[in-house]
Amino acid sequence: MEEKIVQSLKKMLPISQIEDKRNVLCILPHPDDGEMGAGGTIAKLKSLGSRITYLMVTEGGAGIKGKSREETVKIRKKEQENAAEFLGIDKIIWLNYPDGGRYDINDVRNDLKKNIENIDPDLILTVDPFLPYETHQDHKICGLAAAQASSSSLDPNALIAFFFTAYPNQYVSVDDYWEKKIEAIKIHKSQITEEFLLIIQQYFGLKANVYGEKIGCKYAENFKVLFPIMLHCFEEAMWI
Ligand SMILES: [Zn+2]
Repeated sequence: MEEKIVQSLKKMLPISQIEDKRNVLCILPHPDDGEMGAGGTIAKLKSLGSRITYLMVTEGGAGIKGKSREETVKIRKKEQENAAEFLGIDKIIWLNYPDGGRYDINDVRNDLKKNIENIDPDLILTVDPFLPYETHQDHKICGLAAAQASSSSLDPNALIAFFFTAYPNQYVSVDDYWEKKIEAIKIHKSQITEEFLLIIQQYFGLKANVYGEKIGCKYAENFKVLFPIMLHCFEEAMWI
């Protein structure tokens, strides 16, 4: 990595704040990923007047031990719809790929492209498929398919912001939305035991505090934000 090149590129291609975007498409592997990874920012974007669409790649059918797939899907979809309503999400689209099952990334990418072309978002929020040690196939497929679809179909001035990222380059203050994020996570009752909720509050809270210090607030969420042009043959993407 050449620092001189990276610094020059940051000036040549300044990346705007994701809070300034008003037509937001969240591409999510499972019910609860949006709330867990970016719930504060989503709540903030909504209160700033953004239109927000959730595009759910899988139906969440592998998420509850001891329950049938059919029953699980019903519960998790309902929880996601309730959490989305709580956050003021304008629309949810379900692609219904099988959670943890066999499906082809090419099919997902084609579905995402169609939706990106229809919705024409100025911001895509999704999981980072380049997170080292990420092993969940649905997360890797969702993030990579979203990146591939964005590279070809997203407006060149729009942004793609990855959460659950190891390479953040932007922090969003969510001081006024932290409680709302936690409340939204709690709506996914089938996923959250009291013990897990405590871990989430401590672990997410610690990170949000540390990121907040960087921008002078109490709680911040972290993102890797790129232009679509940076998703192909762009050697500095990791450091930009
Ligand atoms: Zn997930």
